[in-house]
Amino acid sequence: MKVRHSKGNSLKVAIGIDSADSLYGGCTTHALYRIFKRLYVKGFIDRLLDYPLLIRLNPAVPGKTRGNGAVALKLEVSENVAPDLLIEEVTDEVTSYVSRALGDVSKVGVAIVFGDPDNILYDIYLKALTDFVHLDYVKAVIDRVKGVMLPLGLSRGCVGALAAIGWRGTRCTYELLVYRHPLNAGKTERSVDVERLRSLDLIPEYTTFCSYDHENERDVSVPKGPDPILLGIRGLDPEKLVGTLSYLRFKEPIEGWIIFKTNQATGDHMIPRASVELKPFRTGCVAGRVEEVSVMVGGDVLLSVDDGYGRLRVVVFKETGLTRYASLLRRGDVVRFCGVVKAWSSLEPVLHVEYIEILDLATSYLRMNPKCPKCGKRMKSAGKGKGYKCPSCGFRSSNLTPETRILPRELSPGVYLPSCGSAKHLSIPEQLPIAGVDCVFREPRHVSDFYGL
Ligand SMILES: [Zn+2]
Repeated sequence: MKVRHSKGNSLKVAIGIDSADSLYGGCTTHALYRIFKRLYVKGFIDRLLDYPLLIRLNPAVPGKTRGNGAVALKLEVSENVAPDLLIEEVTDEVTSYVSRALGDVSKVGVAIVFGDPDNILYDIYLKALTDFVHLDYVKAVIDRVKGVMLPLGLSRGCVGALAAIGWRGTRCTYELLVYRHPLNAGKTERSVDVERLRSLDLIPEYTTFCSYDHENERDVSVPKGPDPILLGIRGLDPEKLVGTLSYLRFKEPIEGWIIFKTNQATGDHMIPRASVELKPFRTGCVAGRVEEVSVMVGGDVLLSVDDGYGRLRVVVFKETGLTRYASLLRRGDVVRFCGVVKAWSSLEPVLHVEYIEILDLATSYLRMNPKCPKCGKRMKSAGKGKGYKCPSCGFRSSNLTPETRILPRELSPGVYLPSCGSAKHLSIPEQLPIAGVDCVFREPRHVSDFYGL
């Protein structure tokens, strides 16, 4: 290990982790929390270079746990810390955490980067956010980049670990994660003050969102599984998130808490693509003319859209809350559909919509027979090419033309977003006033300002 400390006598390090969780327990954010705590307690940390990072990656990638999240910690370590020792501390903490929680360390990914992360790691982030990343691609990339270590070897988890290090967001949100005491995690029911959660987002000073799903009366910030998280509060300001801790009143002992900077609720995975590029497991938006709309039994809406490069099938599921708008779309409307692509049984790619932007509505006309110029009654056709006749007074004419009327549309152009109850991690929920804030790092005066270590 030949990494040297910089002239300022401190060394920049980024630690990325992914897949330290499973359906049976553990949590990747918690593993990072433990590493952070260990490095802090041992006095390794000279300076934090950013908030801890929590990124959500492509939700369409198969074989991932539900959240598809990865984490990173960026810091400067003191001059008396040998890089080898740092690597040992990190891998020891991760492997003991993962083997306690899961009993299997084969999937976990750990990446450590010394110095400033190469831009190519940002490319890995973008690819992992919007596409399926092959391990061969990752291997080729890291062979070319200096300072990248994969101390536990190359696994699927390394994709997320490197992506988390590579992320440099332009828009961010924050999440406060509170961890349960190890004696209770996975063993007892979570105990939180639901009334406080219900009112939290209604207090504007806290800048929180989606703490509670008022539409369906659900405490969406409280996980239900065996993982160690008591709750996760999302917000736009890290300092104000710390303030919610005293408001929330926990009814059980906690291990600690941490504030992450995240790409959640930014819609960053919705990149523009042509219909032909929307292959299975990719994310993106396609804008085009609606060709067909059909409402299925049960309420899901199936559409077909043509963007000039081809036709793409699009589905809007009822759970998104967007079918009430999608079912009102008509042939000729110009719409941007954003979502993730899945392969249906015929292996045909189908875009599963997360949100809709209506760009232009087609005008539809209602054609009616003219009114009788003599008595004002609605006339009838006198037969093909024979004009109209009045059923009331018998007047006939072949010079009259049909009346046309513009049909009113019950939709208007604009963006239609999912509500908190149905929005996925990366989607912008309709309750959020803006899609994230600038990602500026304000270095805390004390580590304890943002971290309950
Ligand atoms: Zn008449």
